[in-house]
Amino acid sequence: MKILDGKETSKQIKLEIAEEVKQIIRQGGKRPHLAAILVGNDGASETYVSHKVKSCDQVGFESSLIRFDNSVSEDELIKKIKEVNDNQDIDGLIIQLPIPEHISEEKIIESVAPKKDVDGFHPINIGRMTLGLPAFVSATPQGIIELLDRYNIETSGKHCVVIGRSNIVGKPISILMSQKSKTGNATVTICHSRTKNLRKITKQADILIAAIGKQGFVTADMVKEGAVVIDVGIHRVKSNKTKTGWKLKGDVLFEEVAPKCSYITPVPGGVGPMTIVSLLKNTLLATKQK
Ligand code: NAP
Repeated sequence: MKILDGKETSKQIKLEIAEEVKQIIRQGGKRPHLAAILVGNDGASETYVSHKVKSCDQVGFESSLIRFDNSVSEDELIKKIKEVNDNQDIDGLIIQLPIPEHISEEKIIESVAPKKDVDGFHPINIGRMTLGLPAFVSATPQGIIELLDRYNIETSGKHCVVIGRSNIVGKPISILMSQKSKTGNATVTICHSRTKNLRKITKQADILIAAIGKQGFVTADMVKEGAVVIDVGIHRVKSNKTKTGWKLKGDVLFEEVAPKCSYITPVPGGVGPMTIVSLLKNTLLATKQK
């Protein structure tokens, strides 16, 4: 069993991005600038945003964190998004999800200018990605593809089973894996909560991608010997062994599944850091496209 080390791979990609930023500056260009909007003070969202801001610093990007209280109205938020859309200095904009229930996620996503939508959530980017046209591909699926690619994992002709059909992970990763491309060409089965005989299907997977949002859901009896397993899940569980009082776990029961795999992503240190570098890559792309 080998670990698909997202932490190390993302470090390498950050060095590559930082080098490209230096080159842009040497040629008289401007630093890429990512703006993040955070509504409320949910602990997990605070952590994700602070990782994103820190990563911007590490590669030489500028970043702006725009905060709102939970009570912010939909109109106020849309007004700010439009301001950022028009701000020539900002290349990419992300809205940290989830947002409070009184605000329509759909309206917020559609308010972001597609050319600044570095999260790749806007219907225009999703549509273009689906058609195989140049687009901002949402960060988590893109990070998974890049990790498989950097480890030279063959996807062509393989049976890839995706558990989960969310718009931000399950659906886009199933499209990318089946895309007619060097990093795709897999035969994809997409499973969800209404899937019957889930275990029978997951056991056929050469590549199993778990994006369910249920801690330890994938157990050893669901996995074929020698499979490649990608664990997208992130769960904070209480721990008396860490300073923070919690540690991260995935959707896969790592301890029992890992021995059966040819490759597996750990949590933490697998898909999470790859998601952040994909966001950085999209921001760099947005800057270059200007
Ligand atoms: P989501 O929107 O809650 O979607 C979960 C999916 O799992 C749904 O399609 C659901 O089916 C399916 N599901 C739930 N129970 C199931 C069951 N018993 N059998 C089969 N399918 C089942 O979640 P998400 O946003 O895709 O996120 C999934 C996980 O990834 C979460 O833990 C999240 O925190 C994590 N995540 C991590 C990253 C990262 O950077 N590593 C990024 C994004 C998300 P239905 O559609 O039928 O309800």
